[in-house]
Formats: sequence, structure tokens, C-alpha cells
Amino acid sequence: MIEYDQFINGRFVRSTSTDVIKIINPCTEEVIATIPKGSVKDANDALEAANIAQSKWKALTAIERASYLHKMADVIRENRISLAQTLAKEQAKVIGLAQVEIDVTAEYFDYNAGWARRIEGEIIQSDRPKEHIYLHKAPIGVAVGICPWNFPFFVMARKIAPSIVTGNTCIIKPSSEAPMTIMEFAKLVEKLDLPEGVVNFVCGSGSIVGNALSKSPIPGIISLTGSVQAGQRIISATAENITKVSLELGGKAPAIVCADANMDLAVNAVVTSRVIFSGQVCNCAERVYVEDSAYDEFMEKITKKMSEVNVQDAFSDDNPDMSSMVSKDQVDKVEEMVEFAKKEGAEVVVGGKRIDQFDKGFYYQPTLLTNCRQDMQIIQEEVFGPVLPVVKFGSLDEAIAMANDSQYGLTSSVFSENFNKVMHVSNELQFGETYINREHFEAIQGFHAGWKKSGIGGADGKHGMEEYLQTKVIYAQYS
Ligand code: NAD
Repeated sequence: MIEYDQFINGRFVRSTSTDVIKIINPCTEEVIATIPKGSVKDANDALEAANIAQSKWKALTAIERASYLHKMADVIRENRISLAQTLAKEQAKVIGLAQVEIDVTAEYFDYNAGWARRIEGEIIQSDRPKEHIYLHKAPIGVAVGICPWNFPFFVMARKIAPSIVTGNTCIIKPSSEAPMTIMEFAKLVEKLDLPEGVVNFVCGSGSIVGNALSKSPIPGIISLTGSVQAGQRIISATAENITKVSLELGGKAPAIVCADANMDLAVNAVVTSRVIFSGQVCNCAERVYVEDSAYDEFMEKITKKMSEVNVQDAFSDDNPDMSSMVSKDQVDKVEEMVEFAKKEGAEVVVGGKRIDQFDKGFYYQPTLLTNCRQDMQIIQEEVFGPVLPVVKFGSLDEAIAMANDSQYGLTSSVFSENFNKVMHVSNELQFGETYINREHFEAIQGFHAGWKKSGIGGADGKHGMEEYLQTKVIYAQYS
């Protein structure tokens, strides 16, 4: 069993709290590691270290800072197999997907390093003679990155890479459900010649460590990826100091399938988007609206596809589509939501139960529900599991209205072979991302950002990097 410490100011240190949180392998239910429960003092020590380190760090040229991002990418690639195994073990992510997450994370560091020479300001025309108005992009200071458990390694990079290339220092708080791969990365960072305090990792609960980091006057930005509830608590915690927040929160992505869609493509894309990582993905397709004239064909095809989803141990050689859910709490919640949907009138076409063929683990069947209505909980609330409710629509306007009838606005998709139709729908959808005739999966050079309760600000690409920059204007009058 591995015991992790905090990583503060360039070295591993014991937490001032002696309490620990146990990390469980969801497939075997064995305790495989412990992390510190963390304390307010740990959070404050990390903030102080990051704050002290920032003035020297920002004084380096952007290209020097970028060289450390390349080093991080290199050590991830050198350790790609063991990191993927840790990731698969700590959260039952099938090993193939875990490997993709590790490899994309290395790319993410390299991609952000590439921005070093491209961070640009502007010179604006003045109304006065002999004056230049310079608009600079300055680092915002100390960045706090609070991570979820579902894509912990990639999301960690989403916070570290853009923040440090732009001259900020950073503190990462991993989720207590999946901190191991991040803390293994901390061990690799310790061996780099990165100046101390530039990147810190503090484990612990959201209510103690996350809250202390968010409430402090030190950070320039708190960047959370997590639930709406955590986002709301962070908004409250940051209110006193008016600290900037960037919030990537939950979703309830609609997929609109028109009668003129390529039905095989639509079915493959929707099922892939729904069952990847056992449905525990913020941008998963979570509800499908199907045009009534194509409903029977769609249902026949999707019933077959959902029935064929291969569920196995995360390390199975059988190339599974999904595995156990991350925890007992998570599977209990999904079970409860499906049972409630049944009471509200949903009909189970595929699945609808826990899987009991495995001795251990928290497995739930890929589940397809029909007879669903817009007012049902299963259509309105995020389901972090492999459950897909289907609703029929008559007109396209009706489909758009039902898709937009949501507190969330993260991702969405539309399937049709008619260009005018897909352009109209994507224009009307109130979601940060719309995928046309493809699965839900964003690109590192895009901009991943939610509307409504799905968040504030966003990540990735040029616009994600700008979250970590403060705009300063200098009026330079000369004689
Ligand atoms: P969560 O909100 O339970 O936890 C996320 C992080 O917030 C954890 O590190 C947690 O310790 C911390 N936290 C909790 N309360 C806090 C508080 N009061 N102050 C500071 N920090 C606090 O979310 P989760 O269960 O880890 O992740 C699942 C959720 O994340 C889902 O809703 C999912 O949709 C969302 N998510 C969104 C995106 C996105 O890009 N929009 C990506 C992945 C996950």
C-alpha cells in the first residue's frame, strides 16, 4: 500500500493532519493507498510557497518557462505505462482509455508550451498626440486548480500547463477519489529542476483543503472542474476577496437525431459517448431526442448496440468498453435514479440493474430507457453512469426547445445529413459545445466551456490560456 504525502515548495512533506483518506481499487475493493486528509495549514503553506516563488518565476522568459512544460511531457512519456496502470487501478478506467488519457496529457503540456512565443498584447490608438496605449497580458499570480476524479490526470494538466507557461505558480488539489496518478506525477516533478514552489500538490477534502485554498486572499484564480455544488461553494468562498473563478461543472448533454441522419453513425456516436468510462464523463451524451418517423429504426439499432457493450475488469485483455463505476456511492446513486425513472414511467429496454457476475466492484449495466418525458428527473439531472433515456420529437423546433430546457449548457450534438438543418440547430443550441455527426469529445486546441450552471470561463486552446492572464493597460505619454 502506498502512503502519499503533500508536495509543497519542491519537496514531499508530512501533512499537519494525521488523518488519512483511503484509496480503493474499485474493481477489487482493496485499499491500495492513503492520502493525507489535509489541513488548513497545509493549504496555507502551499499558498505561501507559491506566492513567494511567483515573482522569480514570472521574471523568466516565457520560452524558459515553456522548457519545463516540455520536460513534464517527456517524463510523462517515459513513464506512460506505469502512469496508465495507476490510473486504471485507482478508478477502474479501462486500461486502453487510461493510456489515452496519459498520452493526451503529455501532448497537452507540449501544446501549451507552444504558446510561449505567442502570448500577445495590443497597441491601441490614443486620442492624444504622442501617446501609445499598450495592452499587456500579465500573469494573474497564484493559480489554484481543484480537480475532479473522472479525468484527474488530464484535468491536472489543464490547470498546470496554461497557468505556469503564462508566469503564474500553481497549487493542485486532487480529488480524494483519484489522487494517485497525480501524486505519482508529483514524484516525477520532484526530480525535475523546476524552481521550488512553482507547482505544489495538496491532498485533502474539498470542505477543508479546497475551501481554505478558495477563501485565501493569495490566489489570483481558482479553477475548479467538478460538480455544480462545489462550484457554488467556491463562489461563496471567493466572494470576500472577489477572487476570479473558472468553473467547469456538470452537464446533461442532449443528442438530437433527425430522421435524415446516417443512423448507424448516430447510434455508434451516441453509445460511444454514453458508455465511455462507464458514463462518468461531463460531456457524455446523456439524453437522446429522436425524430418520430425514425424512432423504430433508431431503437432497433441502439438496442442492439447497447446490448453488445462489453463490460469487464479494467485490466481485461478483452478490450472492454467500460468497467466498474468509481465507487459504491456512485453506483448507488445511478441505481436510485433508474429506479425513480421507472416510478415516473420510464420503460427499461436494456439493462436497468447492477451487474452481479463479478465478485467485487461497483458495476452497473449499460441501460437504455424509453417512455421518457421532458419533466422527468432522468432527463433533467446529470446521471454519472451508463444510462441513456430516449425521447421522441415531432418538429425540429420542439427538439431544440427540449434540448435547451435544461439547467446545464456544457455539450450537445446533432445528427443529420442536411447541412442547413445542422447549422440551424447548432446555432440555436445553448451549449458551450455542439458536435455535428460525431461523438462528444473535445480537442485540446478548442475551448471547453459551459453555459448556464455548467460553468464560468473555460479551458483549452488560446482562450483557456487567457483565463490565467490579467489584462493591464499602460498609457505611455511622451514629449
Ligand atoms: P466534486 O464537485 O465532488 O469534486 C470536485 C473537486 O472539488 C474535488 O477535488 C473536491 O474535493 C473539490 N471540492 C468539493 N467541495 C469543495 C469546496 N467546498 N471547496 C473547494 N473544493 C471543493 O466533483 P467530482 O465528483 O470529483 O466530479 C464529477 C463532477 O465533475 C460531475 O458533475 C462532472 O460533470 C463534473 N466534471 C466537469 C467537467 C467539465 O469539464 N465541465 C469535467 C469533468 C468533470
